[in-house]
Amino acid sequence: MGLRRRSHPCARRTTRSRRHVLNADPSRQWRLLDLQAIDTRLDQIAHSRKTLPQLAQVRALEEKAEALDSLLVRARTELGDIQREVAKAEADVQLVRDRAARDQARLDSGTGSAKDLTALQHELQSLARRQSELEDVELEVMERAEDAQSAVTQLEQQQAVLAGELEQAVAARDEALADLERQEREVAAPRADVVAGVGADLVALYDKIRAQSGGLAAAPLRQRRCGGCQLELNNVDMNRIKAAPADEVLRCEECRRILVRTAESGI
Ligand SMILES: [Zn+2]
Repeated sequence: MGLRRRSHPCARRTTRSRRHVLNADPSRQWRLLDLQAIDTRLDQIAHSRKTLPQLAQVRALEEKAEALDSLLVRARTELGDIQREVAKAEADVQLVRDRAARDQARLDSGTGSAKDLTALQHELQSLARRQSELEDVELEVMERAEDAQSAVTQLEQQQAVLAGELEQAVAARDEALADLERQEREVAAPRADVVAGVGADLVALYDKIRAQSGGLAAAPLRQRRCGGCQLELNNVDMNRIKAAPADEVLRCEECRRILVRTAESGI
């Protein structure tokens, strides 16, 4: 970043700088660097709050829980359907059993003609076959009901595990957020005093530049380099800065940020 990309510094200077020269005692300018440090840190904290990995974790688990919920709804509906089939199969078997029991009772009582009794015996044989068929159906449906029940149980267990994970993730997220809030309070605590020390005119300029420069409005001049854009100042600019009164608020010719002279400026 040590480039010098200015081709016509003199021409630009006449059009861009020295329109409103703001004067502020060097101590106020140094306070401005303190203010910038506070605001940079606050911006970082705000950024962290939006990009916390715990937020993504909670979101991912919530999505998983939602998907699991709908699987469970489907599995329970299916189980309910099969349980109705089981009830019907049981009722079908019971009907045949009842009928066979009635026939058997009539047969045992020995009432009726020999023809009637033969017919009853035939019917009992056919009912026994029918019962066996229906019991096979009942068994098959009951097996399906068991499978559906175990699917529901499995999903319910997964749901319980996931609920625990989600609870932990939410607690971790809230803890991280609370930690950031605590940091924010700490960092912001001296801000009002610093702002008062900088003074309204310089703060107004700082706020304006900050809005246009991605949050960084004031930077130190360090070893001939602007701490904002990191470009090295040429000799013309360095000489101008050396000649400028200590209370003149300087601007970087490249990035237009407020350039604060410090002991490390290389002047
Ligand atoms: Zn700059």
